[in-house]
This record gives sequence, C-alpha cells and structure tokens, in this order.
Amino acid sequence: MPVPFFDITRQNHSVQSEINAAVQAVISSGRYILGPNVAELEKEFAAYIGTKYAVAVASGTDALHLALRACGIKEGDEVLLPPFTFVATAEAIAYCGATPIFVDIQPDTFNLDPSKLAMKLTKKTKAILPVHLFGLPAAMDEIMQFANQHGLKAIEDCAQSTGATLNGRQTGAFGDAGCFSFFPTKNLGCFGDGGMITTNDEKMAEEVRVLRMHGSRKTYYHDIIGYNSRLDELQAAILRVKLPLLDSYSKARRKNASFYCSALNNIKGLALPVEPSNTKHTYNQFTVRVKNRDGLKDSLSQKGIPSMIYYPLSLHQQKPFLSSGQSFAESESAQKEVLSLPIFPELTPEEIAFVSSAIKEFCAK
Ligand SMILES: *Cc1c(COP(=O)(O)O)cnc(C)c1O
Repeated sequence: MPVPFFDITRQNHSVQSEINAAVQAVISSGRYILGPNVAELEKEFAAYIGTKYAVAVASGTDALHLALRACGIKEGDEVLLPPFTFVATAEAIAYCGATPIFVDIQPDTFNLDPSKLAMKLTKKTKAILPVHLFGLPAAMDEIMQFANQHGLKAIEDCAQSTGATLNGRQTGAFGDAGCFSFFPTKNLGCFGDGGMITTNDEKMAEEVRVLRMHGSRKTYYHDIIGYNSRLDELQAAILRVKLPLLDSYSKARRKNASFYCSALNNIKGLALPVEPSNTKHTYNQFTVRVKNRDGLKDSLSQKGIPSMIYYPLSLHQQKPFLSSGQSFAESESAQKEVLSLPIFPELTPEEIAFVSSAIKEFCAK
C-alpha cells in the first residue's frame, strides 16, 4: 500500500465547489492584487490569531524580512535564532544586512532553548527570532521575558504553527510580530505563495504596509525604498474559504498524531514528539527521533512509505553561515536522528496503521 507523504488533492476535493466559486468571483471582479479579498482576509486572520492587525504579503519569507525591516533591523545588528530551522529564518536576517546568531535547541521540543540566550547576548543584539518548529510553540514566556528584560524585539516564525496555541494564546500573538506562510504544505495553505504578518502595534502594521508596496503611503509618492510583496486576490479568496476550516484540519492532524503515539508507544530507541500540557501542537510535521534513522527511512521506503528529513543540515553548517565557526551539539544530534512521517489531515487510520506497523517491524529487529 503506497502512502503519500502529503496529498493536498484530498483536501481540495472537500472544498472544490466553494473554491471554484471564490476563484470565479475574483476572475469576474477584475480586481487581482490587494483588493477586497485581501482586506477581508487580513481582518479575519487578525481576529483568528487575536491580534489587532494582520498584513498580507507575498510569502512567509517576505513576512519575516519585512517584519525585521519594520523593527529597524539593519547592518551591524545581531538577531538570535535557532540553527535547526528552514533556511528562510536566517535568510530574512541576512537580507537586512544583520548577522544571524544561533542559539542551540532543546532536544525534545526541537525549539530554541531559552536558557542559552544569555550567553549569546552582546551590545549588538537587537532581536530574537524564535521558530515554532513543526507546529509546536516555542517557550514564549521565557523568550518574551528575556526580550523585555534586554529591550530586544521579538519576531515569531509561525510558518509551521498556524493555529497552534500556548496557554490558550495563538502563536503570532506573543511577540512584536508573527510571521506566517501559506505555502501549500503549511497547515493553512493557498495554491501558490503567500504570507501574513500579525501584530498589535499600529506602527509596525503601517510600516509593513508601506514596505510591501514600494515604500509608498500615497500612490506614486515614495517615502522609502520598499518592495513588491503583495498577496493576490485569488490566493486571498482561496484562503478565506479555508481559514474557517483550519481548526478542523488541526484537529485531524492532532488525531493522526495521537493514533501514531498509541501505536508507537514504548518502542525502545524511538522518541515520539513531545507536547507540553499548556500547548496545542498542530503537527505540521510528526517528527520522531531514532538512532538508525537512515536505516528506518530506507526500510519504510521499500514498503512504499515516504518520509522526510527536516532538516539534514543545521544552518550554522550551511555554506552561507559557516563563518560563525561554532558548533551546536543538540542541533547537530537532531539532524542525524529526525524523521518526519506522513501526517496531513486527510491521511486515513489504515494508512497510519500501515506506517506504524512498518516502523514497529523495523525497530523490533
Ligand atoms: C516555510 C517556512 C518559511 C518560509 O515560508 P515561504 O512561504 O515558503 O516563504 C519560513 N520559516 C519556516 C520555519 C518555514 O517552514
């Protein structure tokens, strides 16, 4: 039985007629960029996250970049982030001319370890960029306390955590800004690229609006050098159909995770994802740790079961960031042991049982 790693067509099928109607309405309207659907989506998304403002941009990477710019991050500044994340987190810092300063992760949550922030603090440190990796909220209470104590900005990378909560509060509502991605494989995905910045700060919202639109407040009058980073109406209309369904998608991912956890309970040498009791993990990825990771991956693959390695190489070991010359034991150990299993909402219980029994068989050897 071949199992897909991610199959968006199953989800599309369930909302096909609503999406067709929404797309057709945009086509007929003649408004394609930053129109009424984007404006409404921004209101609906802000209400969902629980922030005063949300500003739509062209991608999750742009959300990070523009949020950092709006915070005034510039050449010579240092920004703290985990090395175990997608490259875009560090790229956004580099785009501003600032230096990414890595802080090692916790081995169980895969998120930034707040107890290691203090040793990386210098006079140049201006911001912290925690990532809610795989959909599990980072330790925002400790991170915000550190940020406030040292006068640092906090920008959350919520690309994988749309809908996840910590103490009942949505990720993206803790820092100065939350940065979301609507890439098709994310928990709330569109049919192309898209992103969003959430904030309670009116000035920040205004600043990113100006930055996304060529630095202009008034059409054809330009105050600063900005960017072309707009969300289009088609993507916004699709996202407006799917946003009301996001909680049901998260619920399905969580149910799949609990199926895996009961099937894979107590297997020696296999560590399941953790979910602290004050968090709601949204499982953009279901990532286990196992010593013979490559062996397990091959064995699953032979049975038609795809799996992914997020991430095989920490950012401090990637060519653009090698100059830091540092090592991070937890991140380097995670990259050798992590394996992400199929987890998307429409995966069937039979498929999960099939994947689980293949893992059990391998681990019993
Ligand atoms: C996907 C992702 C991004 C980038 O989002 P795009 O919409 O693809 O630009 C940034 N950070 C993390 C952690 C991601 O997973």
